[in-house]
Amino acid sequence: MVRPHVLVLPVPAQGHVIPLMTFSNHLVDHGIKVTFVNTDFRLANVMAASEETRNDHGSVRLVSISDGLPMDEDRRDLGKLHRAIFGAMPGFLEELIGKINESDDDKITCIIADESMAWAFGVADKMGIRKAAFWPAPAAVYVMKLNIPRLIETGTIDANSGVPTKYEIIKLSPTMPEMNTAHFVWHCLGDLDTQQTIFQCMIQTNEAMKGVEWLLCNSFYELEPSSFDLVPKMLPIGPLLAGNQHGQPVGNFWPEDSTSLSWLDKHPPHSVIYVAFGSFTVFDHRQFHELALGLELSARPFLWVVRPDLTGGPNGPTDAYPEGFLERVANRGRMVGWSPQQKVLAHTSLACFVTHCGWNSTMEGLTNGVPLLCWPYFADQFLNRSYISDVWKVGLGLNQDIDGIISKEEIKKKLEELLSDGEIRTRASELKEMAKKSVSEGGASSRNFNDFVEWIK
Ligand code: UDP
Repeated sequence: MVRPHVLVLPVPAQGHVIPLMTFSNHLVDHGIKVTFVNTDFRLANVMAASEETRNDHGSVRLVSISDGLPMDEDRRDLGKLHRAIFGAMPGFLEELIGKINESDDDKITCIIADESMAWAFGVADKMGIRKAAFWPAPAAVYVMKLNIPRLIETGTIDANSGVPTKYEIIKLSPTMPEMNTAHFVWHCLGDLDTQQTIFQCMIQTNEAMKGVEWLLCNSFYELEPSSFDLVPKMLPIGPLLAGNQHGQPVGNFWPEDSTSLSWLDKHPPHSVIYVAFGSFTVFDHRQFHELALGLELSARPFLWVVRPDLTGGPNGPTDAYPEGFLERVANRGRMVGWSPQQKVLAHTSLACFVTHCGWNSTMEGLTNGVPLLCWPYFADQFLNRSYISDVWKVGLGLNQDIDGIISKEEIKKKLEELLSDGEIRTRASELKEMAKKSVSEGGASSRNFNDFVEWIK
């Protein structure tokens, strides 16, 4: 009997590797063999970050291929990275599958690629392998992406760069929530060159998605009913959350600071502010200072993830704190380089989450019923903030002052507002229940996942 053997291919970024690794772990739990393809650069990060993963990565086989860039190249330049990926990776992937099929009794039967890596489906077609796509972002962003041809036709965006011809509030369909054209995802990605490159990649992946039978989305129906109704092919399977099975890799790029949890244990229920901005956000020194001082002004305990590169410098942020800050907050503030975030958000001591609104962080916050204070940085995060504060009403946004800074006073004020808002807390609890139901037996996400597993088998 042929045993199903899937090859999983994420975009080489933290917010893609984690959910696709979680998805892979779930597939393994259902008896499916999984080979997980990182880029060489990202596999080195994953291995360096976790001794557990180095010693034993359960049943997911971790392999890697080059992303087309030298190992010492700056991968924060997303335009350069995408050009390299689209140019070089198809050849490397084909070679890898050829080698696996030669040496392994279980040949690759299906490629599950991140939708943004849909070029891989060309390789799948060439090699006669089945295809499925995974979308680790809001369904609404997929609707936005599918609408690119129409947006060009109506003159809403420039055909070459995707830049909006004017900033306005539009609706992609009568049932969709309003959105600002300034928040088109490709337009929130840095300089014009990067925007243009990513926009053109999106047009290519729209083409490459034609004929792909499955498109699985890490969201749940009740969150975005109008988007799912508009694209019936897109099936929600979220929220995808890590199981607790020993040895299952998480896919972190930085080592988790496990003292975060023991520190939280010392605090009463609903008392701690958790502050984290995902893997990509960078603050300049002034904004970093205001944030530190805002947390100090809040007069509450806080757990703050200060990634080693959060202020962009190579030596870490320790020299970036305001003078005397570390001493003044020593009794109630804890800074860690990277936290076990899903466990942190599930901790009873949490009061709220100051977040950059990355989709995974958003889903993790919702799943745990934690009120959110929104501080978006790029990509879909602006749209996610609108969802959180205006549509689902489970959080508030922070406003910049005339210099473009989010001031310490604004941080203090919004934290107070958020923490005293009973309606937000109630809504957050309601969404938590909906999320739980969707992945429980009989829930829509659970049914979609099971149907997919049957299809693979
Ligand atoms: N994360 C984590 N520890 C941290 C910060 C983030 O484990 O200290 C995880 C978080 O749980 C999420 C992912 O990193 O799964 C970040 O993804 P997200 O989409 O929120 O943001 P991105 O990094 O893509 O901007």
